[in-house]
Amino acid sequence: MNKESTTVICPVCEMSVTADDLQISHQGMNFYFCSAQCKDRFRANPHLYIGSAGHPSVKQHGDVVLKQRSLLLDESLSSVQAEQLSSVLRSLMGIRKIHIEGDRIQIIYDLLQVTVQQIEQAIEQAGDHLGHGVSSMLKRSFVHYLEETELNNLEQQADNSKHCH
Ligand SMILES: [Zn+2]
Repeated sequence: MNKESTTVICPVCEMSVTADDLQISHQGMNFYFCSAQCKDRFRANPHLYIGSAGHPSVKQHGDVVLKQRSLLLDESLSSVQAEQLSSVLRSLMGIRKIHIEGDRIQIIYDLLQVTVQQIEQAIEQAGDHLGHGVSSMLKRSFVHYLEETELNNLEQQADNSKHCH
């Protein structure tokens, strides 16, 4: 039996989603998400994604915040492992480009959709299947901190713009 289900837009990655249980209520409105990844991103910085009448959010304004990073693994990956890890990372939202060779992961992503922390979590989870070395990544807390600050600043800007018009 086909049940009528409402199609809505995931506010983080703008994919069409059916209204299901990946849901957050915020300021009296319900938001639905394509993935736990987008839900977590929204929960951390809701004002990047929701604006108000006449004042679109950074995301609604159509902005992207592209980041390019190289992540180093403790050990080189075989080409099969590199391929497996690539496909895991490609399944994340917001990944623009990925190239894995040896012990180096080069990645370009939209910070409004995915953070380096989420990327590393995905790598760590994949590491359980790929063998040791992959999961024991170098510490990158400095990058985490910078991204958090940048996202908070963007969110702040979006918020301030409501008051100065
Ligand atoms: Zn999404």
